[in-house]
Amino acid sequence: MKRRGKNSPAIPASLAPLGHVKDITAGEVQAIQETLNVNSIRELVAAISNGLLETVQGITAVQIKNIKRAFKLYKTDDTRIPLWDARVAGQELLRIFAQFPEVEKVALTGSLRRCKDTVGDIDILIQATEADRRKLLYKISRMPQTESIVATGPHHFCVVLRNQLQADIRLATRKHYGASLLYYTGSVPYNQYLEKLAGDKGLRFGPLGLTDSQSGEYVAGEQETDIFRHLGIGYLDPELREGYEEKTYAAFYQIPSLVTFNQLKGDMQIHTDWSDGTESIAAIARYLSHTFPHYQYIVITDHVSGKRPNHVLPPEDLFRQAEEIDRINALMGFDYIKKGLETDILENGAPELANDILLQADWVVASIHTDFARDNTDRLIRACEHPAVHCIGHPSGRMIGMRPPYPADWNAVFEAAARTGTALEINSRPNRLDLNDALIHQAISRGVTLVINSDARTLSHFDFMKLGVSMARRGACSKRDILNTWSWNDVEAFKAAKQRLAQQ
Ligand SMILES: [Zn+2]
Repeated sequence: MKRRGKNSPAIPASLAPLGHVKDITAGEVQAIQETLNVNSIRELVAAISNGLLETVQGITAVQIKNIKRAFKLYKTDDTRIPLWDARVAGQELLRIFAQFPEVEKVALTGSLRRCKDTVGDIDILIQATEADRRKLLYKISRMPQTESIVATGPHHFCVVLRNQLQADIRLATRKHYGASLLYYTGSVPYNQYLEKLAGDKGLRFGPLGLTDSQSGEYVAGEQETDIFRHLGIGYLDPELREGYEEKTYAAFYQIPSLVTFNQLKGDMQIHTDWSDGTESIAAIARYLSHTFPHYQYIVITDHVSGKRPNHVLPPEDLFRQAEEIDRINALMGFDYIKKGLETDILENGAPELANDILLQADWVVASIHTDFARDNTDRLIRACEHPAVHCIGHPSGRMIGMRPPYPADWNAVFEAAARTGTALEINSRPNRLDLNDALIHQAISRGVTLVINSDARTLSHFDFMKLGVSMARRGACSKRDILNTWSWNDVEAFKAAKQRLAQQ
């Protein structure tokens, strides 16, 4: 991959990864080293981040792009991709790699494994023998998804895919797989925390395993759990491995266990062809009862409005919809489908629909769909205080990459939700993920009960629930924090408790 002349200078060991970048010669490494006066990868990365690479004579724009890709400096905040897209692309690569006979094990790592709401690159770890490395590189370079390989180190391939996403593929042998999985999952501050724990025990932690800091002898590394055990701590789920303080990590061990998708008993925000969805209620019920057999109930929450002209269900049609739900439930033999609705929160914080309409519904979601720029604390609190409102939909109003959460005093909002017994939503749509992870954690710390919803408009959207579960896990939620892991009887009890509080 490299052009190397007979008399080319040797690449200094401290800058070896720069020599692995496509079409960078030893002479060019030397020019970069001398012009920028860098002697380590850390100094090099700092110089590149400061835009100094462009000052080195003879380095082309294409080479600069490849170097930036190889050192993960190519992506900016604007070009990070939504978790959903990265997950779909990552799982596609896992399926392909798992079919190569050279691949013993393969996993996603990095922010994709930690389920951050946006992801820079697709990080993948493969377990393979040293002997199979070349064969693997060849196969990866020849797969139809590969556009180009921008860097190849001994244990690292940096690949640009045809969809323009970047895949960073790391290799580890069986002996080091667990250590590499842990190390490349990160985050960087979490690794620093592990390094410190290791240091306290006279050990060193890195992608090659735990080693004795005196003798350099290998101690552990085959499995992540081996390393945790030697460091004297329990397994920590990847979603929680962010840059928290030590005492926060310690508190995580007090959580019973993080909520899982299979614990969900229902989906409590679904749109049908009665408003802005594409599917009939019957088709949705048939699909969900087969696809997610662990669901015991689903709540239809079409957008009901007497003011908006389009894509809404006029209030006077709710009665007909209820008859249709009764008809399908009778065919199914039990009340699988619940009669909910979504109503707008008006400028003054009141729901648009009148009380007598709201009181007929099994479940009322109230959401802000206007005035995203202003501080919405008062509107959210008033909506929580309304006795007929059970849940606030997409509470912060953010649209990833388009619109930040509107300003609000979140502690005051969470206090109001907890005080009134109102649930807040974790909306699972890939561009919403609202509440976000930090607000989720803040909400449950204040005693708020959350609901994870797909907010689906079509059948493929029901899978988004898994994203909402990932956000809940990043917010350190267990089953008891999430209302729709409870039975419908318990949901009724939650509603009754709100009624009692409202009457006090
Ligand atoms: Zn909405």
